[in-house]
Amino acid sequence: MELPSIELSPVWHPYTPIPIQGPRVLLTRASGSFVEDASGRRYFDATSSWWCNIHGHCHPELVDALTRQAAELDQVLFAPHSHSVGQELAACLLDKLGHPFEKIFFSDNGSTAVEAALKVALQYWSRIGEPRGKFLSLERAYHGDTLGAVSVGHVDTFHTAIPQLLPTFKCPIPDVTTSVEHCLEQALGILENHGHEIAALIVEPLILGASGMIVYSKEYLEKLTAAAKAKRCLVIFDEVFTGFGRTGTFFAKDQISTAPDVVCMSKGLTSGMLALGATAMTRAIFNAFEGGESKKFFNGHTFSANPLACAVALQSLKIFDRDKVIQRNESLMALMAAETARFEKLETVSDVRHLGMIWVCQLKDPSQRWRLATAAWDRGIWVRPAGPVLYVIPPYCTTVSDLQQCFDVLYEVMQ
Ligand code: PMP
Repeated sequence: MELPSIELSPVWHPYTPIPIQGPRVLLTRASGSFVEDASGRRYFDATSSWWCNIHGHCHPELVDALTRQAAELDQVLFAPHSHSVGQELAACLLDKLGHPFEKIFFSDNGSTAVEAALKVALQYWSRIGEPRGKFLSLERAYHGDTLGAVSVGHVDTFHTAIPQLLPTFKCPIPDVTTSVEHCLEQALGILENHGHEIAALIVEPLILGASGMIVYSKEYLEKLTAAAKAKRCLVIFDEVFTGFGRTGTFFAKDQISTAPDVVCMSKGLTSGMLALGATAMTRAIFNAFEGGESKKFFNGHTFSANPLACAVALQSLKIFDRDKVIQRNESLMALMAAETARFEKLETVSDVRHLGMIWVCQLKDPSQRWRLATAAWDRGIWVRPAGPVLYVIPPYCTTVSDLQQCFDVLYEVMQ
């Protein structure tokens, strides 16, 4: 099949400028850490296909779980009937999350996992008779593209064209010019004046993904979370990107001393094979929705807990444990750490950051990002810019030599 130009194609692609920037091909196959185009050329997927793919493309065990499930029980209405893959997956996720999580609400993707969290928070306060209608989130946060998620986001390029629908306060994040103390002072001020109106604080823990892979202070996150809790605000960790080993621990929250009340998951949940969202919460939150028709959670999606997606997610978790993926990733993380020092010396680079299985290179001249991404693509490496950075977020099945090759190509291109 000939690939029609972006202007003539019947498809409108997400986040794609017209006319297009960067390379564009017809992808026909994928396997492990590689995708293949119609001419048979292979490309290393340094994006994990939008940060989802953890065990590699078309993993045979996931394909098997999917086909077995498809032959047994396909999409069924999940209210109030249930199915064993949904039950089992929820139990496994709670086991991974640990205390104080007791309930999982399934939805369709990252944005709906966040929408569910926001609506749980709003409805929680209304159910207990103390309505709170506002949110607190971080400067440069990104939580998805549905309108609730957009309301709590603050990335200019994504959000300025859309009016903020949910009233949301914004707290600063510490960086080289702004200290933890200064940011905390601002956040404490907001909480002091408005804490009683704020239903929840929502954060991407440890790293702001879409706004340019910004790693921020763990101390700040811990203190901000504690301060929000002191004002009885619920705390939501959006682990859509950071979950499932991406930051080096199973969840980013595992590196934080203060526990959230709600956790949003998607992306790596099914190793990127199928769309699925999950929102975990505490018993105390769930209890507020007990009491019949008027108290129930008014939220749900047609494909909630789709059995095919649940079966794949379950198998993905089994592979994760059996193959001791976090330990296995140590050699890849060591390579990423070593490459940080090499790239830091490049004149075209202003900063290099590394967190778990995330490696980020900030460009001195961001206008060059598509030129560099295209040059890497021509050499068989698929990197996609995010704001002023190029990142390497590989599938966990990647071999050390494939990752080394990716860095070598990127280095050559950056030079
Ligand atoms: N939250 C975070 C932190 C994300 O990075 C994303 C997607 N990049 C989302 C939510 C939205 O997920 P989805 O694209 O599956 O709706």
